[in-house]
Amino acid sequence: MTQSIEKANVHFMDSTCIDFNSGLVAKTQQLFEKADLKGCFKKGDRVAVKVHMGEWGNTAYLRPILIRVIVDKIKESGGKPFVTDTTTLPYYTIASRQTAEDYLITAAYNGFTEETMGCPIVIADGPFGLDDVYMDFSEGIVLDETYIAKAIAEADAIIAVSHFKGHDWGVYGGSIKNIGVGCVSKRGKTILHMCLHPKVGIKDWKFDGTFCKGKVCEEWTVCQNLCPAEAIEVLEDQLTYDLDKCIGCLACCELVYKCSIRTMPKEWYEYTAIGMADSASAVIKYLGKENVGFITFGIDVSPSCDCGQFADRPIMPNLGVFASKDMVAIDTAALDMTMQMRGIVDSLSEEKGALDSGTEKFTLVSSEKNISQWIQINVCDELGVGTKNYDLTLEPVSKEWWQFCFPKYRDLKKPPSYYFRKYFADNPLVPPKGFKWKAKPRISVDQLSKR
Ligand code: SF4
Ligand code: SF4
Repeated sequence: MTQSIEKANVHFMDSTCIDFNSGLVAKTQQLFEKADLKGCFKKGDRVAVKVHMGEWGNTAYLRPILIRVIVDKIKESGGKPFVTDTTTLPYYTIASRQTAEDYLITAAYNGFTEETMGCPIVIADGPFGLDDVYMDFSEGIVLDETYIAKAIAEADAIIAVSHFKGHDWGVYGGSIKNIGVGCVSKRGKTILHMCLHPKVGIKDWKFDGTFCKGKVCEEWTVCQNLCPAEAIEVLEDQLTYDLDKCIGCLACCELVYKCSIRTMPKEWYEYTAIGMADSASAVIKYLGKENVGFITFGIDVSPSCDCGQFADRPIMPNLGVFASKDMVAIDTAALDMTMQMRGIVDSLSEEKGALDSGTEKFTLVSSEKNISQWIQINVCDELGVGTKNYDLTLEPVSKEWWQFCFPKYRDLKKPPSYYFRKYFADNPLVPPKGFKWKAKPRISVDQLSKR
């Protein structure tokens, strides 16, 4: 492997908070400035704010306010933001973001609407996830091509806002995964997940249909109907596949876990981690490195992806917020920081032997096959879309707290209580006879303090 020499800047603020201006919302705004993310776009540019708005039932995805303040910063800087993500492959049998229509409903349940974001929300690969732009990528480590979601390919710039956490197949999910998987269409996702790969693809996974209980299973109609290519049939006492029909959509992959019908080989996981990073590198090359900026939140570090319909308890304490113009440096900095952290007792960190600092948390906790957590960054560094060499700047908290308060009152002229002067004059807060209290609590504080 070639080793890059140039260093990239990564700006960081930790997740501790003692006052208004050191909260995550304030720090997000400060880091946008510190990392000069407005330098990724020009006045009037259409800026894709690439986020993951959470699967139905997931609770670890980023809170909408963290995205909204970035949208506001882009507007202040003259950009024209739109919040965006792409439809998914059917990784889960009842996944809620497989079409644009379903995704927008899910996003609204999770708090992302045009009103809350203050800008349009665009599902970048269109109604069914096939609106894309082809890109030859023969320089890839395992990919030769990819399919970039159309609305992202047509944007002038991207600000990728990522939730840093574990990922079952990519080992961890950060900026590279957000770009590599999240900015491509269903075709792009099919190819990076190696679905029809001639060596490690679905058709070569070990299959045993006798693990299926057949039609006595109360869920058999779901399994019978989930394959869009009609390649699956549930018989009386087992399940059969017609693999000649398979188009590699991954809709049946939950059966792998749930019923052990199929077995994914270790190489599939390895190739997929490489494929994600190849795909991210292709997107960066297409958009131009200078047009893409990154903010990554190392908070609620769950062991699995936000594509899951649930989120397990975090495996380590919150890290904080990172910002950079380099996709590889920001992920490397976050990964390096997790090496220093201790895992959380009674989380999967303890179960998987990753409590101590110095352990590769995601390799041990998130990857079923202990695939290395370093694959993604090595691929992207090798392809020259960023560097593993970075300088981490621990940014001080701004003392100008008013710059980060509720926007309406940032000029510090009249705080909200001022506006109650007239209202309280006409509608007194205190009732005419005053409020009533007991002189002291009817039950003693001592008594109320016992378990
Ligand atoms: S594959 Fe599993 S869930 Fe599906 S019908 Fe068979 S036993 Fe039931
Ligand atoms: S058999 Fe192939 S096409 Fe059918 S659900 Fe499975 S991966 Fe998709």
